[in-house]
Amino acid sequence: MLRSVKGLKDILPHQATQWQHVETVARTLAAQYGFSEIRIPIFEFTELYARSIGGTTDIVEKEMYTFPDRDGSSLTLRPEGTAGVVRAVLEHKLLDSPTTRKLFYLGQMFRHERPQAGRYRQFHQFGVEAMGTEDPLIDVEVISLLWQFFSALGLKDLTLHMNSIGTIDDRKGYVHTLKEFLAQKLNSLCGNCQRRYSTNPLRILDCKVPLCQETTKEAPILIDYLSDPSKLHFQAVLDGLTTLEIPFSLNHRLVRGLDYYTRTTFEITSPHLGAQSTIGAGGRYDGLIQVLQGPSTPAIGFAVGLERVTLLLTEEVTSKPVPLFFVAGFGERGKPSAFKLLHSLRKAGIRGDTDHKGNTLKALLRSADKLGAEYSIILGDDEVSSGNVILRNMQTKDQEILNINEITQRIQRGF
Ligand code: ATP
Ligand code: MG
Repeated sequence: MLRSVKGLKDILPHQATQWQHVETVARTLAAQYGFSEIRIPIFEFTELYARSIGGTTDIVEKEMYTFPDRDGSSLTLRPEGTAGVVRAVLEHKLLDSPTTRKLFYLGQMFRHERPQAGRYRQFHQFGVEAMGTEDPLIDVEVISLLWQFFSALGLKDLTLHMNSIGTIDDRKGYVHTLKEFLAQKLNSLCGNCQRRYSTNPLRILDCKVPLCQETTKEAPILIDYLSDPSKLHFQAVLDGLTTLEIPFSLNHRLVRGLDYYTRTTFEITSPHLGAQSTIGAGGRYDGLIQVLQGPSTPAIGFAVGLERVTLLLTEEVTSKPVPLFFVAGFGERGKPSAFKLLHSLRKAGIRGDTDHKGNTLKALLRSADKLGAEYSIILGDDEVSSGNVILRNMQTKDQEILNINEITQRIQRGF
């Protein structure tokens, strides 16, 4: 049997209703908060990600799906959305605007990771980006949209973790102190972190290996090293969250794997997901747009992992109850006549169906039940002769005889 590629998942019909619900909530809320949709390509030149995400991150080091195009140029399946959005915004001059540019996206991302519960090689993200202001209130708006998204989906027991990692300048001094602190303790770090010590020491703080967490327990704390403007900015964000009654907890270990993040950093976790507990994360990336040769522009965004969100959905999501009319046509004249009737029902905007696997009335009514039809419209040779149809309520089994030429209008009027 042919199977799908490791780490990729099919979304089957019974799960798709849930996905549609999640996507509808995302779209509706994004619109309510003033974010417009942007649809960016699934792959870009590798250079875009290499430049923006940073060479010492997990993504660029080992998770990208990179392949040569036929002309030899290097392409990469998008591992995240922000880089592509910024590329598109610059290419189409969307920053030439007097107002903050607020965009959202929904779609697949690709990372070569070890597949496990909540971690796949193709996964979906809902993300937003707000570009053009460093006002702490936009941080609050973005975080409140994220919080609202999870509330609207009924997710419980979530924790919002907040931190500030300052500006690139603030971090320089801190990283120096952190390295001094760790210099004598390198043997108590995992192999990865020993490497990070020289390439990306900040990331040692969010290493999940218990030994590393123990070793960094007493490490100096980044927010103590922030410049005054960064401290004020962070405090204003926290005050804003308090005003909106969004509960948060400070988390000094939250440093994010991506180099372009600055100042506000946040993450939302759930205790019901095991090891992969983060369902959404984001922060400011005031440095990124310039790295990609755009004008220096402050910006903030988040990305939510939708597979993890669907794992947490507890309430049964059912599609809106639009009644289904099953057309049960049989016999030499009944079947073609019923097929025409089905077509006119559908053209009139009525949800109609039949099943070509059944040819007897009994088999057709069984199919109607299987498909969850509220009504069946029965049409055999006798009905064609009399110009009538039988409308059967599938639950009560009540039947009514109606003129075939009036049935569509009667349904539209609600009988
Ligand atoms: P993690 O620590 O789980 O690897 P990350 O820092 O790599 O997360 P981000 O780049 O911040 O993740 O992506 C935002 C969100 O996308 C994550 O919080 C998570 O919910 C989701 N996500 C990331 N990688 C995967 C994956 N391989 N499979 C499913 N969801 C993912
Ligand atoms: Mg990761």
